[in-house]
Amino acid sequence: MLYDIAVIGGGAAGLTAAIYAKKQQPQLNIAVFEALDRVGKKLITTGNGRCNITNRYADVSRYHGGVVNLFEKTFSEYSVDKVVAFFGEIGIDVVFEDDGRAYPRSYQASSVVDALRFAALENGVEIICNCKIADIEKGKVFTLKTNSATYNAKTVIAATGLLSGGKSVGSCGSFYELLKSKGVKGEKLTPAIVQIKTSNDITKQLKGIKLNADVSLLLDGKRARKEFGEVLFTDYGLSGPPILQVSRAVERENGDKKISLDLLPEYNFGGLCDILCERRKNLSKRTNDNFLTGFINKRVGQVILKLCNIKLTDAVSNLLDSDIKNIANILKKFEFKAVGTTGFANSQVTAGGISVSELYDNLECKKIKGLFLAGEVVDIDGDCGGFNLQWAWCSGMLAADSATKLLRDQI
Ligand SMILES: Cc1cc2nc3c(=O)[nH]c(=O)nc-3n(C[C@H](O)[C@H](O)[C@H](O)COP(=O)(O)OP(=O)(O)OC[C@H]3O[C@@H](n4cnc5c(N)ncnc54)[C@H](O)[C@@H]3O)c2cc1C
Repeated sequence: MLYDIAVIGGGAAGLTAAIYAKKQQPQLNIAVFEALDRVGKKLITTGNGRCNITNRYADVSRYHGGVVNLFEKTFSEYSVDKVVAFFGEIGIDVVFEDDGRAYPRSYQASSVVDALRFAALENGVEIICNCKIADIEKGKVFTLKTNSATYNAKTVIAATGLLSGGKSVGSCGSFYELLKSKGVKGEKLTPAIVQIKTSNDITKQLKGIKLNADVSLLLDGKRARKEFGEVLFTDYGLSGPPILQVSRAVERENGDKKISLDLLPEYNFGGLCDILCERRKNLSKRTNDNFLTGFINKRVGQVILKLCNIKLTDAVSNLLDSDIKNIANILKKFEFKAVGTTGFANSQVTAGGISVSELYDNLECKKIKGLFLAGEVVDIDGDCGGFNLQWAWCSGMLAADSATKLLRDQI
């Protein structure tokens, strides 16, 4: 069998590409080759099982890597509205929440996988599971090789993802390495949207506590990114949505990296000192261990007092003005040295990938004509919030249109 389009990888981008191509050109023979025993295994885990399918505010500012060259074309032609319409046609009603995040109305990631799988089969896309493509050669047509079989195709769309989420969901990076071995340039891979390991034992003492904070990532002392939200202290370091959102630079950038928490962003330093002086007056009969009780989390308050070398058993009335300033300083700048992340398996996306300089703006590989790339395998990653799936869907659509156009032009 000579396929018109062989799609390698039955994840978000690959399934979309196959369905989209088949809907435009029903006469084409299209197959999806998936290494695992089922398609969409990672998709089922997305959005804590709810699948944050896209985001109303997807624009260039939410993406990283080699974005600029590719962004304009892909995102203007394959917009969030187009993605929503595509899912509507295959049975997924997309609902938007106030912050722009979108989900299937069922709030079930499994329903998204079902819809994609049904749509592929109804439209006549062949799905071949347990089929890991180990090599690809380009002669007159493409030859795709597994360890035991060979397939031929006129065009190929590779949507093989990278390393995030771990091997159980198909993330192995082997196809990326294969392309690199064929001279296609790749950008360094690092985990992003991931928990951050910190160097001190304070987070261990505060393990399990969640609180809202302004989270800043400091690179060599300069703020590189700021996000607000709920931070979770853990035995290895810090987690929670704003931590995941600022994590990208931790393994990617050199130099000193710190996470700074502003636990009371609603007050400036002077205002906070005034409040603490007022508390010193009102609570003068208490001991320091309860000085911050009722103002911030009790255990966090006590740890901060200890960091200021304040004896917890002393009387509040004895706190010096310099103590008040030290406390206010840590409440506004609770700093942790970032020493790493919890790694690819725990990350939601991989930063880096096949360099966009290796691709034309229709996602065709310059060095291997007829091969198109889509999804995470390309050096584009988005913020947390539905942006990565939006990239997977829209790059899948673009790769599909580009491959079908090439086939049309060849006739
Ligand atoms: C826990 C978790 C939660 C997430 N939640 C969200 C979310 O809510 N919203 C969001 O926008 N993003 C989320 N993401 C990110 C999002 O899932 C990915 O960006 C997206 O799935 C990438 O799509 P893809 O098709 O490029 O790759 P994948 O979905 O990883 O699919 C690649 C497929 O290719 C197969 N494959 C690999 N190599 C080969 C080979 N050689 N031969 C054959 N098959 C191969 C793999 O088995 C896999 O099925 C989350 C990620 C994780 C890990």
